[in-house]
Amino acid sequence: MSHSNNPCSRPHIALIPSSGMGHLTPFLRLAVSLTPHDVQITLITAHPTVSLAESDSLVQFSRAFPQVMHKHMLIPSISNNSNAKTYEDPFTVQYEAIRRSSHILSPLLSSLLPPVSAVITDMSLTSMVVPITKTLNLPNYILFTTCAKMLAIYAYYHKIAHNMETMKDDIPIPGLPPIPKKWLPPLLLSNSNNLLKTHFIENGENFVAANGVLVNTFEELEKETLAALNSGLIVGQLPPVISIGPLIPSALETGEELAWLNDQPCSSVLYICFGTRAAISRDQMREIGIGMVKSEYKFLWVVKGKQVDREDEDELQDIVGHSIFSELKQRGLLVNKWIKQEQILSHRAIGGFISHCGWNSVTEAVWYSIPILAWPQNADQKINADLVRKNMVGKWDESWGWGGRELVDGTEIAQKVEEMMEDKLLRGTAEKMRNKARLAVGLEGSSHKGLTKLIHSLS
Ligand code: UDP
Repeated sequence: MSHSNNPCSRPHIALIPSSGMGHLTPFLRLAVSLTPHDVQITLITAHPTVSLAESDSLVQFSRAFPQVMHKHMLIPSISNNSNAKTYEDPFTVQYEAIRRSSHILSPLLSSLLPPVSAVITDMSLTSMVVPITKTLNLPNYILFTTCAKMLAIYAYYHKIAHNMETMKDDIPIPGLPPIPKKWLPPLLLSNSNNLLKTHFIENGENFVAANGVLVNTFEELEKETLAALNSGLIVGQLPPVISIGPLIPSALETGEELAWLNDQPCSSVLYICFGTRAAISRDQMREIGIGMVKSEYKFLWVVKGKQVDREDEDELQDIVGHSIFSELKQRGLLVNKWIKQEQILSHRAIGGFISHCGWNSVTEAVWYSIPILAWPQNADQKINADLVRKNMVGKWDESWGWGGRELVDGTEIAQKVEEMMEDKLLRGTAEKMRNKARLAVGLEGSSHKGLTKLIHSLS
């Protein structure tokens, strides 16, 4: 069956995120920013979700935005061998399970009424969704949920994937300054097959078949990379790359204020959080704890010992260590449940952020001008940390390496925290970047124009 767009009706856009809060959140934010326009939106999500945070936010979202239709794609689970050699990141395994479910997505898309006029899909699902949208004669846009620099790497990777081993220190990508090899996720450098590598190759090859790539970034943050992507230098025939970010937190994400934060002076508290899919080792937790006792700053620390939140049942004392727990409790607040990061970063008491540099966390910190102390743990996070450093919205000490591979000493953590919290220049540049971010999504801003132009083109 083939769909043709009906130019007389309001566009009906299907949004298809992949897996993990880092991918779901930008889709929900995009859905919210589309609602004031004359469009119908359907959100199609994989069921069951990997994390509790995803299922909870979908329930909250549907309650708050009943006008957005929500469809589940019931996907068969695929096994993930917990044997150390073959075990894969559970969120990446979920991408794979969704990618193998085209037989479910295709009839689901065809059955939606009014007929769908365009699809916006997560980059991790490109190679699965593109053939479906081609058959259904539907425009297909990719939402790239991390930075434009990472898009350049993702789009080019398939050309060099097979000779990564022979490459020396830098990865040459046409149109961009060389990228140090060690900034790439280790799985992409590996000779052996793994899901992440397969996805990068297959999705990257298919980007050229999309109608456009929407990126959660803005001109002032990544001007050169956006220009290089759109000049065809990196990959010829890449469709238009449109910056639409930062996708902004919605009112939905503000909840009860934390009473403890309300009692703290302005910009005095350090916030520590490593996102939703990084597990910090017990040894490293203890060093962070030592650092927080040594540092003179109060802190709010989201303690997360397991990769998937459903499995995180350990008591705080067990995770950070009994010997230091009572001292830590006098100095700050430790939490091991889901908190709304937006609510924390927007609080006047927060003065700095130790972040793994997941792209959503970076854009949120920029939005609220909270300086970042970058500590990449995996995936795209070194590329993001480099942007944080380059744009002077935070600091990154590369010698800390990938979290989980090197053990960073507590004294050093305390020292870097102090450097960051006391850096007035950094605070000033973070404030300037916040203003630029707000201008980008304002009425005359580049991101606002990009999104509005897209909606008009679909109408
Ligand atoms: N987040 C949150 N509460 C938490 C941890 C994370 O609200 O306790 C949110 C955070 O604001 C961000 C998302 O979850 O929007 C995590 O995405 P990010 O890209 O920063 O990192 P990832 O979890 O994908 O590594």
